[in-house]
Amino acid sequence: MIELKDIDVIFSNDDKVVTAVKDVNITVDRGEIFGIVGYSGAGKSTLVRTINLLQPPTQGTVTVNGQEMQKLSKKELRGARKKIGMIFQHFNLMDSRTIFDNVAFPLKGSGLSKDEVAHKVAELLDLVGLEEKTDNYPSQLSGGQKQRVAIARALANDPDVLLCDEATSALDPKTTSSILDLLRKLNEQLGLTIVIITHEMSVVKDLCHRVAVMEDGHVLEQGSIVDMFTNP
Ligand code: ADP
Ligand code: ADP
Repeated sequence: MIELKDIDVIFSNDDKVVTAVKDVNITVDRGEIFGIVGYSGAGKSTLVRTINLLQPPTQGTVTVNGQEMQKLSKKELRGARKKIGMIFQHFNLMDSRTIFDNVAFPLKGSGLSKDEVAHKVAELLDLVGLEEKTDNYPSQLSGGQKQRVAIARALANDPDVLLCDEATSALDPKTTSSILDLLRKLNEQLGLTIVIITHEMSVVKDLCHRVAVMEDGHVLEQGSIVDMFTNP
């Protein structure tokens, strides 16, 4: 489903050069929940942003759904990115727009009629349990509800993959666990492949099938949760 091969990401600003990601090889299978863990500054976010080329790698190849991302034209890349949803720590909702408009936003230019958009948004809000909030604004919602809206928006174009960048880091433990339940349900019911960055071990243990541990831009170790957390 996702293959990151020999990935390096090097930032050069003025006279300062930072190697954020070095020699990373990761394969994520279809339907898998793959965790990326490590301390702040390890390169997790940079690495995950190479998957949709939000951060083009300096070296290496990114393949998603059998397509080598760097070989796509601008138009093809726009299409490929629609099939890769993303959510963030701070939700990134449009505060001056309703929940309906936030979720409908990625459907602009999709060719769907107004009724079809309304139907799709209702279906998405139902999926995340927020049908009744359609006319509210983000400021009227709790953190967990905002993240549910962000998830609904990320799923608007029926992606195959959901990238989660510290998606529960701004949430309390109880809300975190309800968001993890939702992600698990999406994985099981839709077959959604999920890549989740986290610094919380509980997230890894409760949710992920496999995990890569990053430090200083490298993958130190990767494997199944059972292998990594079972003491012999
Ligand atoms: P993590 O997600 O694990 O906290 P990041 O991927 O955000 O790590 O950062 C990895 C390293 O790359 C850090 O040293 C960070 O300062 C650096 N970095 C990230 N983005 C940029 C950028 N746009 N320009 C320069 N350095 C960057
Ligand atoms: P725009 O003119 O901004 O492109 P539209 O004319 O498509 O927007 O829709 C007008 C407004 O109607 C939208 O901003 C949206 O908030 C609202 N709307 C449409 N359908 C629904 C619905 N089922 N539930 C809530 N609001 C809706």
